[in-house]
Amino acid sequence: MTQDELFKVLVAHCKEYGFIFPSSEIYDGLAAVYDYGQMGVELKNNIKQYWWNAMTRLNENIVGIDSCIFMHPRIWEASGHVGAFNDPLIDNKDSKKRYRADVLIEDFLAKIEEKMNKEVEKGRKRFGDAFDEAQFRATNPNVLREQAKYDEVHNRYKKAEDANDLAEYRQIIIDNNIVCPISGTCNWTDVRQFNLMFSTSMGSTAEGANTIYLRPETAQGIFVNYLNVQKTGRMKIPFGIAQIGKAFRNEIVARQFIFRMREFEQMEMQFFIKPGTELEWFKKWKEQRMKWHVNIGMGAENYRFHDHEKLAHYANAATDIEFNFPFGFKELEGIHSRTNWDLGRHQQYSGRKIEYFDPEEGAAYTPYVVETSIGVDRMVLAVLSHSLKEEQLENGETRVVLSIPAPLAPVKAAVLPLVKKDGLPELAQEVMDELKFDFNCQYEEKDSIGKRYRRQDAIGTPFCITVDHQSLEDHCVTVRERDTMSQERVPIAELRALIDKRVNLNNLLRNL
Ligand code: ATP
Repeated sequence: MTQDELFKVLVAHCKEYGFIFPSSEIYDGLAAVYDYGQMGVELKNNIKQYWWNAMTRLNENIVGIDSCIFMHPRIWEASGHVGAFNDPLIDNKDSKKRYRADVLIEDFLAKIEEKMNKEVEKGRKRFGDAFDEAQFRATNPNVLREQAKYDEVHNRYKKAEDANDLAEYRQIIIDNNIVCPISGTCNWTDVRQFNLMFSTSMGSTAEGANTIYLRPETAQGIFVNYLNVQKTGRMKIPFGIAQIGKAFRNEIVARQFIFRMREFEQMEMQFFIKPGTELEWFKKWKEQRMKWHVNIGMGAENYRFHDHEKLAHYANAATDIEFNFPFGFKELEGIHSRTNWDLGRHQQYSGRKIEYFDPEEGAAYTPYVVETSIGVDRMVLAVLSHSLKEEQLENGETRVVLSIPAPLAPVKAAVLPLVKKDGLPELAQEVMDELKFDFNCQYEEKDSIGKRYRRQDAIGTPFCITVDHQSLEDHCVTVRERDTMSQERVPIAELRALIDKRVNLNNLLRNL
């Protein structure tokens, strides 16, 4: 399957098995908004729990909060979002489709890179063991031609980005004949800035109404509560505040399923530190967050850092943790050293002093901040896209399995009476009643046992427990493991411990 096909299969699978539905589907959907179904919500909650416990339980100096989506409108002026949370927008006059000008150029650059990589792969095949990639790239005329084109466009793009030169964005698109994928034409409008914040009004009458925004990030709720938490929690620097919550962005182009949504969820942690120590903490949090990801067991090779060359005005270091999604390595999490920019701005805009008195220094200062920010939905997509597999079985059949890391799986065990009679459902129900306090379990008695196994494989259930006639006598059941499909007889009394060993989230947390 190509990556594209795999992605289509994934979207269909998510819908068919109750993970993710398009929002408002019976009204033909709402672009870039998705609902989580009965399986999706369990997976999402497990991911959130893994993150929350890793932050707030494993670190004595990190506490959590839950701030509101609505905040005072001045907050978004202070944070810079009213003035500068923009994307460059361009329309194709023939198809009437809207694009991000920067994304059109970046996609164009990615295509050139792809061409060069294909040439390199051809060379590798041709020369075998004697292949020297560096030399090939430095001498092959096709690669050199593409590289020159890449450098030229890349340089122009970076200059335009630095100067915020929207006319130059358009000129790059025209000069390189970058066409609309729908109309195939280069008939573009001018590039305009488009603010990504959703606004609404608060107040009972139109005249008295105030424009307020749906928060585009959860971070500001943490900054404006810094003093509250520091004082009431008697927190000493360094300390962190963690939060999980919804964020909203009116994304211009919302493609790629739950990768880019207009309503999504973030898990953010702001770590408050002494000025001058930020690069040390930035390094620590980079390591710590990568460890959190790799610990899940989806292969270290599927993650990489992408350090930012161009830093936002408030940052003095920034990196992304990228994951190998079906459409390539893309940002999953951002780690930023934000200096004292946010607290400083809130101090300025609110007129309140936002400082920390450092007893060791005997002086007060505005703390610096290192933040880690990850999208819950992107994490769900990472887990699902990595886990979905179609396997060829020895008997010639195929099975679709979601090999979700067991501690994150929505359902941990399925309890299945072999037949719907002879007292087996009753015993199976007893097993269910025993396990349901510790694990999310499913009871299923409909269809053949093979079909039930397949259904559980498709939602990623690590264990299937089959109750058969023999069970009535020996109080043992057959436990089938999802990935190996191996089966073993286990006394009912030992089930809890056996399942717990594989699925308990604490086992993941202990390795951090
Ligand atoms: P991108 O460059 O992909 O738009 P970003 O750099 O704007 O992302 P941040 O503002 O750093 O993203 O947000 C932190 C995290 O929130 C991202 O790493 C991502 O996981 C998540 N996120 C941001 N925008 C969206 C979105 N529209 N839909 C889903 N998740 C998102």
